[in-house]
Amino acid sequence: MMSLPSKVDVLVVGFGPVGAAAASLLGGHGVRALVIDRSPELLTHPRAIALDNEALRILQLCGLPEGAFPTLAIPYVRMHSPYCGEFARINTGGSIDGHPKLVTFFQPDLERALRAKVSSHAPVDTALGVELTGLAEREGAVFATLKHADGSTATVEAAYVIGADGAGSAVRRLIGLDFQGHTYAEDWLIVDAKHVPRPIDHVEFLCHPRRPTPHMVAPGGRERWEFMLRPGESREEAASDDGVLRLLSRWGRPEEMEIERKAVYRFHARTADAFHRGRVFLAGDAAHITPPFVGQGLVAGLRDAANLCWKLAWVLRHGASPSILDSYDTERRPHARKMIALAQWMGRLVMPGNAATAVMTHGLMRLLRLVPPLRARLEELGLKPRHRFTRGLFVRGRTRSRLVRGDVLPQGWLRGDDGSVRLSDDVFGPSLTLLGFGPDAGARLDAAVRAAFTAAGGRVVQLRHRGQRLHRADHGDSWEDLHGALTPGAAPFGWAAIVRPDRTVLHDGPVSEVNRLVRETLRLLGTPRAAEAAPTP
Ligand SMILES: Cc1cc2nc3c(=O)[nH]c(=O)nc-3n(C[C@H](O)[C@H](O)[C@H](O)COP(=O)(O)OP(=O)(O)OC[C@H]3O[C@@H](n4cnc5c(N)ncnc54)[C@H](O)[C@@H]3O)c2cc1C
Repeated sequence: MMSLPSKVDVLVVGFGPVGAAAASLLGGHGVRALVIDRSPELLTHPRAIALDNEALRILQLCGLPEGAFPTLAIPYVRMHSPYCGEFARINTGGSIDGHPKLVTFFQPDLERALRAKVSSHAPVDTALGVELTGLAEREGAVFATLKHADGSTATVEAAYVIGADGAGSAVRRLIGLDFQGHTYAEDWLIVDAKHVPRPIDHVEFLCHPRRPTPHMVAPGGRERWEFMLRPGESREEAASDDGVLRLLSRWGRPEEMEIERKAVYRFHARTADAFHRGRVFLAGDAAHITPPFVGQGLVAGLRDAANLCWKLAWVLRHGASPSILDSYDTERRPHARKMIALAQWMGRLVMPGNAATAVMTHGLMRLLRLVPPLRARLEELGLKPRHRFTRGLFVRGRTRSRLVRGDVLPQGWLRGDDGSVRLSDDVFGPSLTLLGFGPDAGARLDAAVRAAFTAAGGRVVQLRHRGQRLHRADHGDSWEDLHGALTPGAAPFGWAAIVRPDRTVLHDGPVSEVNRLVRETLRLLGTPRAAEAAPTP
């Protein structure tokens, strides 16, 4: 039986993909954390298969570069009706912010890569076969009761707890939050197979009212089918070897395929009443669960981890005010709900219920494609809600730059003075970053403001146009923006922006006002030296 630390800064409950992402982000920020999981082994059920560019960017923040786990870029997603033919096609080829718009992957590969990353962070301990059974918040800390496989128990004191313990979350129950929403009436059989005789290279939704079937290709020579079971069809019979072979026969000789995994699920559309109570936070499926029709369950959980972990780190390590943690719920819950609503809408197209509804809904979608702006919106991922906040931890207001506070900063390729070429997020690292677009913003900071910013985990980066040799930075790094994604793409010459470690734009304005921008940022974060940075009256 492993010995557990008696006191940590953050206890992460659940070492699924979201708990692992959170633990690796906390480790990257130098936070002392313990991550536990009741299961001694990695869970290998067939679950998440698709990730978007936002998820891949968050995994990059976690320290997983492209190639850290196998992925397969998907060029398009097609939706097919038995009555109207192809009624929608979404272009997913190409990339956004340095990552493919859509890939498929094998969830256990990703989880292994994340766990390896977590083990490289000295401040993070992991304990498998350890279950959370109790939580009590008192005296400015949370006391967690943990049970080992042999039945013995231990108490761990944590400043904060992240419940990443999945849809049936014990953490959510222990802090008394409801999980409101809807459970679908249908069962779905998920089958992953290898050696498929006629493989496809994309994702397709076969929207037959009697047997809706999403079908997609995945790395490692795999294909996935998700078969909706008909009323009266038993789970056992459908998932039996014969049942699976019958369902797959349309795609070739099933006996030549290797059935790797199968499972029957019911889908849910639910969100917790709040994403935190006191010092306890929910993330991933513990906070929200969605039907998988737009492949956003895990992606949403990764967004949670990225949004929450830097805030915890700033409170624990840089003296930021604990009140910034309230913005986790303000920022994440509305977006998670919008994604679930999109998945529910998509579900209505995928499983139309009967032939008349199929003709009507699929036919309407075909008609909408005749209207060019609507077609463009449908085909170019225009229906996907942006992860842009209207309220939260940023200075409100708009400026004349293209940057939107509360929105994510684009990512581009940067070249350093030594000729090395890196993605901008890798250059910025796990910092609060002051960007000077053209001029070196650091050179314009008063000494007290600069000292307070550095103490608050701040770092200065100068971004130059490609080939520009002006204004050498003397207080931070200086990089050329090779393709103009950031400058002039996002901000004009002479601009400054302060970007959170999760790459959300927190503040921006002319570089001539950089002292004010930094002071307002420090005030918002409530860091202890914010007062010292204030201008002398
Ligand atoms: C068929 C299907 C297809 C999907 N497709 C996609 C997709 O394409 N894209 C996508 O983004 N998402 C998809 N999802 C959703 C995705 O799989 C989940 O959102 C994701 O796995 C949730 O991760 P998590 O870490 O929050 O929870 P989990 O993976 O459930 O991990 C929770 C962990 O907590 C542990 N635990 C539970 N209780 C305790 C306790 N009391 N003490 C200690 N440990 C505990 C569990 O053992 C588990 O390891 C799909 C889901 C399904 C079912």
